[in-house]
Amino acid sequence: RHTIGILALQGDFEKHAEQLTSLNIETIQVRKPETLEKCRGLIIPGGESTTLTKLFDIYGFYEPIREFSRNHPVMGTCAGMIMLAAEADDYRISPLSLIDISVRRNAYGRQINSFVTNVDTPFLGESETFRAIFIRAPQIERVGPDVEILIEYKGNPVMVRNKNIFALAFHPELTHDPRIHQYFSEA
Ligand code: GLN
Repeated sequence: RHTIGILALQGDFEKHAEQLTSLNIETIQVRKPETLEKCRGLIIPGGESTTLTKLFDIYGFYEPIREFSRNHPVMGTCAGMIMLAAEADDYRISPLSLIDISVRRNAYGRQINSFVTNVDTPFLGESETFRAIFIRAPQIERVGPDVEILIEYKGNPVMVRNKNIFALAFHPELTHDPRIHQYFSEA
């Protein structure tokens, strides 16, 4: 298996595929659970977490993704991060609980709810930074003891990891910079 699956139920899955293609990594759009059998990793893109909850139910993704995550890397960005969390602040969302974080939806304000900022990314090398794009982004309000914080912005974690599970509040697929996808693909 050398293909990385991108959950393609909703949201900006194409951009994740472009980022991986630029690294010469093969991708496949995952629209049904059986496709996970062909994948060595999975990305859950941004979009709308209430809609993703409904689609996970309809297409039966909850158990297959939990099972897959036992021995494969999984990365969730924005709404995808909400789906990986242990807790979300909206009763309409049923997260997968694959990483011990609590998240709050649309937490970066209603008016100025999208912004771009440079964040420090020491895990990519000393004094490296990344141009992080936040779009109606969720905030990580609590991290469990086993969760490693990889990026912080204004005192809040915005990229975290627990072993093979990666969660990002921003959109690494919207910058022409594949380093975070590269890092994930090496997990
Ligand atoms: N606001 C969306 C949600 O709560 C996430 C936004 C995004 O994925 N860009 O689900």
